Amino acid sequence: MRLYDTLTREVHEVRPVREGLVTMYTCGPTVYRFAHLGNLRTFMLGDLIRRGLELEGYRVTQIMNITDVGHMTDEASSDAVDKMLLAVEDEGLTPLDIAEKYAEAVFTDAEAVGIRPAHEYPKATDHIQEMIELTQTLIDRGHAYVVESGSVYFDVTSFPGYGKLSGNTLDHLREGHRDLESDPAKRHPADFALWKAAGPGRLMKWESPWGVGFPGWHIECSAMSMKFLGERFDIHTGGNDLRFPHHEDEIAQSEAAVGHQVVSIWVHGGHLRQTGQKISKSTGNVIQVEDLTARGLDPLSFRWLTFQTRYRSEMDFTWDAMDAADAKVKQLRRRMADWAPAAATSSDAAAAFDARFRDSVAADLDMPSAVVVVNDLVGDAGVPDGEKYTLLAAWDAVLGLDLEREATSGWTAPDDVLELVARRDAARAAKDYAESDRLRDELTGVGLEVMDTPEGTRVRPRI
Ligand SMILES: [Zn+2]
Repeated sequence: MRLYDTLTREVHEVRPVREGLVTMYTCGPTVYRFAHLGNLRTFMLGDLIRRGLELEGYRVTQIMNITDVGHMTDEASSDAVDKMLLAVEDEGLTPLDIAEKYAEAVFTDAEAVGIRPAHEYPKATDHIQEMIELTQTLIDRGHAYVVESGSVYFDVTSFPGYGKLSGNTLDHLREGHRDLESDPAKRHPADFALWKAAGPGRLMKWESPWGVGFPGWHIECSAMSMKFLGERFDIHTGGNDLRFPHHEDEIAQSEAAVGHQVVSIWVHGGHLRQTGQKISKSTGNVIQVEDLTARGLDPLSFRWLTFQTRYRSEMDFTWDAMDAADAKVKQLRRRMADWAPAAATSSDAAAAFDARFRDSVAADLDMPSAVVVVNDLVGDAGVPDGEKYTLLAAWDAVLGLDLEREATSGWTAPDDVLELVARRDAARAAKDYAESDRLRDELTGVGLEVMDTPEGTRVRPRI
C-alpha cells in the first residue's frame, strides 16, 4: 500500500514500525453536534486505508479520539465561544450528557455508511492527566512557558521544524494565521496554548500545576496518540482543515517532547462540497445520514459516491449523483443474486481483474480506478458468473457495500458453519488437502456453496 504523505509531499510505501501490524491514529469527532456527510467522508478515509491494508494481509490497530472538551475547532476568531457551552445552554444537558449523546449519534451514522469501529475511542476528558504530564515535559525541555494568568504556551521558536507540514513557517505565516489566540502575554504571535486558564463561565475545567484550566485542543491528540500507539506509529489521518494549526501543532508538541519523528505518514482527506461550498454547519448546507434514508437511499451508497473521487480531492455532492450511486449499488446486489447459483471456479481472466483491483487500492487508494475495474468485470462476458461473484464478494471487504445482501437474502453463517470454515482454512494452511476436501463436502452437504478466495473459504447458501 502506497499513500501520499502530506509532510513530504510524496507517495510512500507503508512500512510499519512493528512487523505485520500497522498503527493508525484518526482525529475523531467533536461531540456537541451531529456529524454531516463531510465529516463521514473524512472518517471513511481512515477506515478505507485500514480495509486496503487488511486486504494486503496486514493487521491494523486504529485509534480515534473523541474531542469532548469544548474547543473552538475551526473558528480562529478571538470572539469564538465554547461550542460545548452553547450546546449545554441550548439543550439543558450537562457537558458529559451532550458528549455521550453526540458520540452515540456519530457511531450510529458511521456504522450506517459502513465505517467499522476503531479499536479504541479515547476521550479527551479521560486523559487530562496525560496532557498535563506532556505539557510539563515540554516546559521542562524548554519548549513551553507559563504566563501569569496560568496559561501555558508552546514556544514555536524553540522548534525549528515548525511549519513543515502546512507551509505556515514562522517566516511565512499566512495572513489570518498570525495570531489564532490573542494574549498579550505570548512571546510570539504563533505560540499556541497547551493549557488555558479557565475564564468565567467555563464549564469544563480541571486542576493543574498552573491553576484551574483546560487543555489546548492540539495537546489532546499528541497525548492520546502516543499513549495508545507509542512514540513511533505509522499513519495519522484527518481532514484537510486539520493540517493547520491542529496537526502542525501536534507535530511540534510530540516531536519536541520525545526528540524524534513520531508519525511516519500523514494522510489528509479533501472536503465535501455542495453547490461549490464546503459542507459545514456554518454554511447551513448540512446533509446527514437521516437525509439519505428519508429519500429511500441506502446510506452505504454514499460510499460508492465517494469512490468516484480521489480522497485528497474536494468532492461535489449532488443529489443526482447520490441517486445514481444508490441505483448502481442496488443493481450490483441484484446482479450478485443472479450470479449466485453459478459455480465458483478460477480463470486467468478473473485473476487479472483481481490484480487490477488490488493494484488500484494499493496505489494511494485509487478508488476511481477500482470502480472502473468493478464496472469492467460486471460487463465482461469472458468471465464466468460464479467468478464475478467470488471476486466482488472478496472486494467488498474494501468496498463495504454489502454486495451479497440479496444473494444471501440476509443470510449470515451460523456459528457451527463458521467453525467448519475455520477448520477448513486451518487444514488448507497446513496443506492437509484430504481434510480440507472432507470439510468442503461437509459444508456442501448442508446446502452451502463453498468458494476459495485469497482471504480463505467463503460460503453462501446454494439457491
Ligand atoms: Zn486530532
